[in-house]
Amino acid sequence: MDKKINLEKLKEKMEKDQGLPLKKNATRLVFGVGNADSEVLFIGEGPGYWEDQKGEPFVGNAGKLLDNLLYSIKLPRQDVYITNVVHHRPPENRDPSPEEIAAYGKYLDEIIEIIKPKIIVTLGRFSMGKFLPGVKITAIHGEPRSVHFMERQITVIPMYHPAAALRSIQVMNQIKQDFLKIPEEIRKAKTNMEVEQMKLV
Ligand code: URA
Repeated sequence: MDKKINLEKLKEKMEKDQGLPLKKNATRLVFGVGNADSEVLFIGEGPGYWEDQKGEPFVGNAGKLLDNLLYSIKLPRQDVYITNVVHHRPPENRDPSPEEIAAYGKYLDEIIEIIKPKIIVTLGRFSMGKFLPGVKITAIHGEPRSVHFMERQITVIPMYHPAAALRSIQVMNQIKQDFLKIPEEIRKAKTNMEVEQMKLV
């Protein structure tokens, strides 16, 4: 069955899950958006006001910046898949707690399992912490890391959160530089895929 259908089924399952801790204060589930067949998955933190209203990740100010950053590397938003660590808006946009991250984490794992991305771009420290626990974003932003995750090798590129870039000119300059590293990682991932396919014929 194709990835899009599997994601749709997972979304329905999540919508019915009454145990999700941030559900009661949120307007709607913000599951994810984009191309399910993409080799690149972007993972943010959690929905804000506009995402909660529209049911789509990164549609507010941080989303506009994300769109510009994607445009700067000629990677259309609709070509990648975008989701978050938690899929309901935390009250007052507060940080999600470790328990909340764990509750939504099993669904995020399923999203990753369906999409099978070669590259995960983490936006902010919460999604970075899922793959690279115990590291500081100031020390490793923009540095691709090969991570063994769910029985697969994935390149994780930790980025500052776009909202942090809107608050600091230094972070803005840095995130612009860091995004420029993404196309080369996509090229490498595609070359590796071609080599693997050639081994099969
Ligand atoms: N910030 C996030 O981390 N995710 C969104 O979807 C929007 C803003």
